Amino acid sequence: MNTIVNYLRSLFLLELLKGLKLTGRYFLSTKFTVQYPEEKTPQSNRFRGIHALRRYANGEERCIACKLCEAVCPALAITIEAEPRDDGQRRTTLYDIDLFKCVYCGYCEEACPVDAVVLTRVYEVAFDRRGQNIMTKQKLLAMGDEHETQIAADRTTDARFR
Ligand code: SF4
Ligand code: SF4
Repeated sequence: MNTIVNYLRSLFLLELLKGLKLTGRYFLSTKFTVQYPEEKTPQSNRFRGIHALRRYANGEERCIACKLCEAVCPALAITIEAEPRDDGQRRTTLYDIDLFKCVYCGYCEEACPVDAVVLTRVYEVAFDRRGQNIMTKQKLLAMGDEHETQIAADRTTDARFR
């Protein structure tokens, strides 16, 4: 009996018609495809992209070299060296994040007591040279300077920072 049913199904192309019905339904509906990179999908204000180090409004770097971020990082991606400055304040002399090791968990951002290390919304990165995966302190501070407006705005709309 099954053989006859299958024979009739294939004879009248029922499976093909079922498939075409589905195709027709999606052909007329709203499209999901995003024309990247001209179009971008919406981002959350908690998006975890490339890191940055922030400064206070007077230009002083926020990081106090407590090394909490280094300790909490599950991927051991952060390397910090620190020593006191001439004015007695403790600051980092080296602050590296290895983007190849980082899993973008955001623990470093959550651990930081002074909101110094943050994850920005920037996710379009490419490396064409060995070593470019290391975000040095200078690169992190430059990233923070460039995106401070967005970083600060995200904090005003994120319930975690109220
Ligand atoms: S986001 Fe996570 S894995 Fe990446 S540096 Fe921060 S703590 Fe480490
Ligand atoms: S970024 Fe924050 S948690 Fe990491 S060493 Fe600096 S102050 Fe401490």
